[in-house]
Amino acid sequence: MAGSRSPAIGIDLGTTYSCVGVWRNDRVEIIANDQGNRTTSSCVGFKETQRLVGDAAKNEAASNPTNTVFAVKRLIGKRFSDPCVQSDKNLWPFKVIEGNDDRPNIIVNYQGEEKHFAAEEISAMILTKMKEVAEVFLGCTIKDAVVTVPAYFNDAQRQATKDAGAIAGLNVMRIMDEPTAAAVAYGFDTNEVNSSVKKNLLIFDLGGGTFDVSLLSISNGVIEVKATAGDTHLGGEDFDNRMVKYLVEEFRRKHMKDISSNPRALRRLKTACEQAKRILSTTTQTTVSIDCLYEGTDFYSTITRARFEELNVDLFEKCIETVAKCHEDAGIDKNNIDVVVLIGGSTRIPKVQKLLKNYFSGKELCNSIHPDEAVAYGAAIHAANLSGQGTEEISNLVLIDVTPLSLGINVLGDITHVIIPRNTPIPTQKSHEYSTSADFQSAIRIKVYEGERVQSEDNNLLGQFSLSGIHLAPRGETNINVTFKIDSDGILHVSAKEPVSGTKEQITLINEEGRLSKQEIDRMVQEAARNRMEDELFKEKVLAKNSLEDYAYSLRKLVKNNDKASGEYAKSIAEAVDKMIEWLKHDVPNDVYVYHTKKKELEEMSSTLSRMSL
Ligand code: AMP
Repeated sequence: MAGSRSPAIGIDLGTTYSCVGVWRNDRVEIIANDQGNRTTSSCVGFKETQRLVGDAAKNEAASNPTNTVFAVKRLIGKRFSDPCVQSDKNLWPFKVIEGNDDRPNIIVNYQGEEKHFAAEEISAMILTKMKEVAEVFLGCTIKDAVVTVPAYFNDAQRQATKDAGAIAGLNVMRIMDEPTAAAVAYGFDTNEVNSSVKKNLLIFDLGGGTFDVSLLSISNGVIEVKATAGDTHLGGEDFDNRMVKYLVEEFRRKHMKDISSNPRALRRLKTACEQAKRILSTTTQTTVSIDCLYEGTDFYSTITRARFEELNVDLFEKCIETVAKCHEDAGIDKNNIDVVVLIGGSTRIPKVQKLLKNYFSGKELCNSIHPDEAVAYGAAIHAANLSGQGTEEISNLVLIDVTPLSLGINVLGDITHVIIPRNTPIPTQKSHEYSTSADFQSAIRIKVYEGERVQSEDNNLLGQFSLSGIHLAPRGETNINVTFKIDSDGILHVSAKEPVSGTKEQITLINEEGRLSKQEIDRMVQEAARNRMEDELFKEKVLAKNSLEDYAYSLRKLVKNNDKASGEYAKSIAEAVDKMIEWLKHDVPNDVYVYHTKKKELEEMSSTLSRMSL
C-alpha cells in the first residue's frame, strides 16, 4: 500500500551523535548532513545572533563553551535531584538549574538574553536538524519518524523523547529500542531474518552515554526480544570524564593550578581526551597537547592505553556483569548465544572487546554491521514497516519487544507489588485485584513505581492518583481492580476501578510527574517554530550581506579596470563602493531589506556608469 505520502524516516537520537536513515529504492539509505557527514553531533550552540545545531555547534564549542549544550540525552526524562544529573552538571560547561517540578533546566545566553530550555526542547532541536537533513535529501516535507531510545530507558525518558518529537513537529510513529533496531539491521544485512533456523543474538551496545544489552531470537521474519539490561548512564562520555579528571589532577600537580572551574579549559581538555581515547583504540600510547590551556600555561601529557584501561576498568567490568544478568534473565546459557553483535562507538575500545570475548570463551564478536549507523538503519526499516512503504519482506517483519523494568504499585508496608515483571513482551495488559486496608475506607491512593527493589522508596515513583467514592465496607471487603497497560512505545497507562460502586467507577491515566504538560509542549512547539523562523531569517540575512559584499567588490574591480569609466561619476562610485565595504565591516543590521536596498543603489550606479561609458 505504498502511497503518495512522504517517506517515514528512522532517527537514532544519540548522546554524542545522531543519525538518520530512510527506506528508498528497496534499501536503507543513511543520509549525510550538509557537511557530508553521515552522523551529526548532538550539539546545540547559542550565540548573540544565531543558533547552531549539529556539527557547526560542536566546531564552535571551545570558543562558546557555556552556551554549547551537548549530552542532553543524559538529562531527558530525569529529575534535577537525580544523583546522575547532580554529578553530570558539575562536569558540563553549560549551566543546569532546578526548574518546575524538580525538572532540570538548561540555561544559555541567546540573543543577549538568558534563556531557559527543557531537555526535551534541546532534543527537539536535534530532531528538527535530522528531519531537515532528510528533507533536503528527499526533497519533500517529512512528518513521520521512528525514534530510537536505549532499551533501558524508563517510562519518563520514553515519554520525554516522544514529547521532544512532538516539539520538533514530528509524528513519532514508534519509540523503538536501540538494540532491537540494531538486531533488525543485522537480520536484514545477513538475511538471517528470513532463515527458518532460530538464532540467539546478543546485542552489546556501548555508545556515548548509554549502555544496553539485549538478547533476541531471530527467525522467519520474527525478531523477539528475550531480555534486556543496561545502564542509561554509562558510555564514552564517562571514559572521557575519567581521563579529564586524571589530567586535571596532573595539571594541578605539574603547574600548581586548578582548571576545574574554568569551562573553556575543561571543554578543550575534554575534546582532547575524546580524541586521545579514540587514538588509543588503535595505538598503545598517545599525547594530549593543548596550547595555552589555562592562564597562558601549555599542557602536554603522554597517556598509554594501559593507563586509560586502568582508569576505566571498573566501568568495563560493569558492562560484562550486565551481559551476564541479561542472558541469565532470559534463561539462556551463554553457550547458547549464537552471535554477539557490537554496536555503538565505544565498542571499538580493545579492552571492552577483550573482556567480552573472554566472557564468551574466545567466541569471535560480530563487527560486520556499522556501529554508528546500525541503529538508524534498523529504525528506517521499522519506519517503512509501520508506514507500509517497504517491500513485502519489510511488511512481514514482526518485532516483539519487552519492558525493561518491573512495574507495580505501593501496597501495605510500603513495598512495591509487581503487576508487570521486567522482560514481559509488549504491548501487554495485566490486572490485579487489591482490597481495602481500613474499615469503611472511602478512597484509595494508587502510587505507581518502576524498578526491581522490594521497598517502594528504593524504586522510581512514576505517578500517583486517588480513587475516591469507593464502596464503604469493613477492611478487606472492597475490591479494587488495577490494570496496567503498556503500549508499543513501552509507555504505561494505568487504570483502577471499584466494581460495586458502579457509577462511581473511575479510570485514571497516569499523568507522569515531572513530565511536560500539554500547555508547555504547545508553548515549546510555538517557540521551536519561532526559532526555525529566526534561523531562516539569519540565513537570508547572511546571504543578502554576502551578495551585497560580492557585488561591491566586483563593482570596485569594474570601475578600476574600465578605462572609459573615468571622470567625476566614476570617482563618486568608487567612493560609494569603498564606503559600502567599510560599512559592511562594522554594521550588521538585522533587517535583510537594508542589504537589498543598498545593493539596488549600487546596481543603479553601475547601470548609469555603463550608459555613460558607451
Ligand atoms: P555512539 O553514541 O554510538 O555514536 O558512540 C559515540 C561514542 O563512541 C563517543 O563517546 C565516542 O568517543 C566513542 N568512540 C567513537 N570511536 C571510538 C574509538 N575509535 N575508540 C573509542 N571510542 C570511540
